[in-house]
Amino acid sequence: MKKDYYEILEVSKSATAAEIKKAYRKQAIKYHPDKNPGDKQAEENFKLAAEAYEVLSDENKRAQYDRFGHAAFDNGGAGYHSTMDDIFSHFGDIFGGRFSGFGGFGGFGGGTQQVRLRGENLRVRLKVSLEDIVKGTEKKIKVKRKVQAEGVTYKTCTTCNGTGQVVRQVNTMLGMMQTASTCSSCSGSGQIIDHRPSDADSQGLKLVEETISVKIPAGVMEGVQLKVSGKGNDAPGKNGIAGDLLVVIEEQEHETLKREGENLHYDLYISFSEAVLGASKEIETVTGKVRIKLEEGIQSGKILRLKGKGIPSLNGYGTGDLIVHVNVWTPKNLSEKQKEFFREMLNDKGFTPQPEKSDKSFFEKVKEMFS
Ligand SMILES: [Zn+2]
Repeated sequence: MKKDYYEILEVSKSATAAEIKKAYRKQAIKYHPDKNPGDKQAEENFKLAAEAYEVLSDENKRAQYDRFGHAAFDNGGAGYHSTMDDIFSHFGDIFGGRFSGFGGFGGFGGGTQQVRLRGENLRVRLKVSLEDIVKGTEKKIKVKRKVQAEGVTYKTCTTCNGTGQVVRQVNTMLGMMQTASTCSSCSGSGQIIDHRPSDADSQGLKLVEETISVKIPAGVMEGVQLKVSGKGNDAPGKNGIAGDLLVVIEEQEHETLKREGENLHYDLYISFSEAVLGASKEIETVTGKVRIKLEEGIQSGKILRLKGKGIPSLNGYGTGDLIVHVNVWTPKNLSEKQKEFFREMLNDKGFTPQPEKSDKSFFEKVKEMFS
């Protein structure tokens, strides 16, 4: 009786693709012929795990297997009886490396596999004002980055003969196995430094300060990362690719305006008299001052919306609003004479709160703003 594929991988029937992959990885490492030389049972388990993974990692095959069991693949229909070459061909996506098959089964193809080395990314923080965020701007920043030092020359790596890979042969009971790994002498580039001037570090790089122009698009916000391609560290070696400069936006807090997404909020304080009589007030916006009219008898807590006076959206669609919150300032240090006036008004009908239906409560206003 053949063992159940789910049992082999030690997963449940409802396991996700990721769980199956993880389970297979575990089994493959445990029973890998390299780790268990001469162990026939380990070899068998290794093959079984690969077979189970072959079926369960394939949506169609798995569905067939769930319906018909092993019978689904009898008569060689699915042809999953893997050779060791097939098994190792999976290893690329499971282990993220390159594995070749066994000697004699059309093993390692040789050839060159140099990798283009990449320089490190650099990350800098940049403070940006709300005014700059509204308009978008260009900033020049000084960055210390590593660049290829002048006068560095390269030669073919002697460890890997320029192929970038070192092929290792392992004797297992299944025959000669070859694994290819990245050459550690040249990090896979196939080139090593021949001549290095004294001002260069061991990778042939030297630190310089450079002034770099960064475009700040309108609408950026705290934490946004802007990429300046190729302005990170240069790659070590010949023909490498420089890393990127990542500029992390730090939004400077504005004195009077608070940002909330694309909208801005402004707290306007008016005097009791202005609330009673109405007023014309100057409001600071990010694009300059504007004058707004407050009607007679305006209530504290009233919200005025200045359309399009907020922040443009980063994706270019529309602009937020400036939301003005009206606060009536209650005086604290009044003279006896002034207080006398208000005492007289205490029982005056005109001063008794008579909220109209249109004077929405604070909670209703909040609800409105978020809907
Ligand atoms: Zn090398």
